[in-house]
Amino acid sequence: MRSVYMDNNATTALKKEALDAMMPYYTDIYGNASSKFYKIGRDAEQALYKMRESVAKNIGAANANEVYFTGSGCEADNWAIKGAAFANQKKGNHIITSKIEHHAVLNTCEYLEKHGFEVTYLDVDENGFVNPKSVEEAITDKTILVSVMTANNEIGTIEPIKEIADIARAHKVIFHTDAVQAIGHMPINVRELGVDMLSLSAHKFHGPKGVGALYIRNGVRVDNLVHGGGQERGKRAATENLAGIAGMDKALEIAVKNLDRNMKHCEKMRDRLIDGIRKSIPYCRLNGPENNGRMCNNVNFSFQYVEGESILMMLDMNGVAASSGSACASGSLDPSHVLMAIGLPHEIAHGSLRLSVGEETTEADVDYVIDVLPSIIQRLRDMSPLYEGVER
Ligand SMILES: *Cc1c(COP(=O)(O)O)cnc(C)c1O
Repeated sequence: MRSVYMDNNATTALKKEALDAMMPYYTDIYGNASSKFYKIGRDAEQALYKMRESVAKNIGAANANEVYFTGSGCEADNWAIKGAAFANQKKGNHIITSKIEHHAVLNTCEYLEKHGFEVTYLDVDENGFVNPKSVEEAITDKTILVSVMTANNEIGTIEPIKEIADIARAHKVIFHTDAVQAIGHMPINVRELGVDMLSLSAHKFHGPKGVGALYIRNGVRVDNLVHGGGQERGKRAATENLAGIAGMDKALEIAVKNLDRNMKHCEKMRDRLIDGIRKSIPYCRLNGPENNGRMCNNVNFSFQYVEGESILMMLDMNGVAASSGSACASGSLDPSHVLMAIGLPHEIAHGSLRLSVGEETTEADVDYVIDVLPSIIQRLRDMSPLYEGVER
């Protein structure tokens, strides 16, 4: 049986070059980057510095010391939001975010609400776009932080980050963006965007799992999340994960170098998939923007009269790996908060399927999915009492 991986928004395959870049730090260069009194420690420290410089360059940061390595995208989001909130609470207690953020942002904001902060969760339109005007309208003299994601992980909406960053800056409010889905899949330059903080995670762009980074523009006040030793210039304790960082650095370098080519390829695969599904399956709805403002790798459909989970099971039996809503939401019975926020009724949100392509996705993979999916949907609809009425 064919095996087709279409869940690149959940995680991506580690690149061979990234793995090769990691290996020396598991074998020869095992020194602690904080141990400066012997060579193997200094070797680690120098390697770390070089990797920080190159990650900074690849996201457009002015200085290497604006890049702080973390243990994940979730950690970077938690740090940015809790860190900015607690460091600036004398100025105010109000935070603005959107209803379609990743749970790393939403659950952090909910936690802060239990600790004296007030959070505005902005509505989005039917395609998932945050209106920059709504950000401006929500800002009060108590607002200390705005956090809006660069690209949505479920429906692929690319938010107007530059406009929102401009508004935040005009009001002297810190602006953070979760760019975990965007980095390596669209051009990102922190200076051109004008963001104060940006989160990224290696495993979403063919790097290893368990390593990420937070860009913090020099001058932005952020408290520590992880307390302990003086690593990461005193801001994030823990012995640096050199192998992970090396893998992330290499994966990012390759992603940035091949960005145009990979984006074009993914867009082609995405559109072939969208067209094929629309042509072969009735009563379906594309969730997220049509093409302008949509991530190159994301496809998300709702199929009326079927359950997303059942589609996933039958796709799996056919060797296809996909997702319904987000990986975090699957396993729970609640429909995706993102699909609810774009105004889908419960029963349509439940029948959603996310197929996310990648640079390794081939036309044959896409055609295979277009080949097996219609009969899967038809079989599930044939079992549905709701569909019976429609048929007649
Ligand atoms: C995957 C993801 C995260 C979490 O990153 P981890 O490294 O898995 O913790 C955060 N935000 C978005 C938008 C994501 O897609």
